Amino acid sequence: MKVAPEYDFFKWVIRNDIGDVTGIADDAPDDAKKAFDEFMRDDPLDEYLYLEPAEDGRFAVTLNEKYFGKEGAADAAAKYLESTRKVLAPDGSVIRYNFHPEGSMFEHVVCHDLGHMTEWMLVNMRCSDPADRAVMRRLCTVAGQIYGEAKKELSESGELPSDLELRRGISECATLNLSETFAEAMVDYTANGEKANALSIKMIGVARRIYRGEPGIDTGNTE
Ligand SMILES: [Zn+2]
Repeated sequence: MKVAPEYDFFKWVIRNDIGDVTGIADDAPDDAKKAFDEFMRDDPLDEYLYLEPAEDGRFAVTLNEKYFGKEGAADAAAKYLESTRKVLAPDGSVIRYNFHPEGSMFEHVVCHDLGHMTEWMLVNMRCSDPADRAVMRRLCTVAGQIYGEAKKELSESGELPSDLELRRGISECATLNLSETFAEAMVDYTANGEKANALSIKMIGVARRIYRGEPGIDTGNTE
């Protein structure tokens, strides 16, 4: 789970149709480009917790000593809490979105990776080939399906905002890709229960139903 960036580069990011972050605008300030590159690199040292696939369909979780060790934990907890708050202008408009779900705390960092583990577990249930599993994780196949189903259910009770707005209702981190949306939904749901964002509640509910093999969700299971 990534630590919130110090520099808010999100106002310059390029997004695809469903709101995923796909790049940074050419005309963004150099500081924003630099912060973006540092943020997007895949380095376990940038993360609170790092999840990796291990052998035989298992997962390995590594805790980053920098944030969970004696030295850095208090700072990390304070910084996490700060990242759960939206920064608003006097007129109520959003200057900076909350990077992690409002109402969550440092201990919920673990729940984020629990979300990724749940998604990967559903991938493993779907197929047994390690290469296929890797592709499904990379493409956020299962998370995308959970999101699609949750959105369909939410739309039954009224018109929905754009995908970006919908996902930002959870957090800015939830807009990185759909796997992050699900992981952040897990944080939101664990921290806030029935007071969580409606999308979070729906996504966790859909995942639970897929896990239980309940009918009504097309999982595209080919095995
Ligand atoms: Zn994550």
